[in-house]
Amino acid sequence: MNDNLRDRIAAAIDDTFTVYADFDAQTAADVALATIQGAYVPPPPGSDRDKLPDHLLAVAASHMPPYTSTACQMADALEAAAGEQPELVGELREWAQRMRSSCRITRKQDMAACQHPQHREGDS
Ligand SMILES: [Zn+2]
Repeated sequence: MNDNLRDRIAAAIDDTFTVYADFDAQTAADVALATIQGAYVPPPPGSDRDKLPDHLLAVAASHMPPYTSTACQMADALEAAAGEQPELVGELREWAQRMRSSCRITRKQDMAACQHPQHREGDS
């Protein structure tokens, strides 16, 4: 393995486990791999890296829908399907939990909070 690749892997792992410390190992591994491969890596939850300028958000605010992350929407869909598919219930619930744990909490463009009930009091 050449030194450049070794350095990139080390940096990706270091960044990933710093920024994604609260995430499961699979999510962290996915982010590290994407980083190493030079793929787009979305900003970590809470990051304002992709936030739009405040003056544009101010004029667009009334047109922006309430935010529920796609991860939370997908978790709900998987849970709903789990109630209908007994043979897949374990797998569906496992993926639902994975989706829930990967919610960004904030919309990256304007930092609006995810409105899913799972984030109320003590949940995250
Ligand atoms: Zn959420």
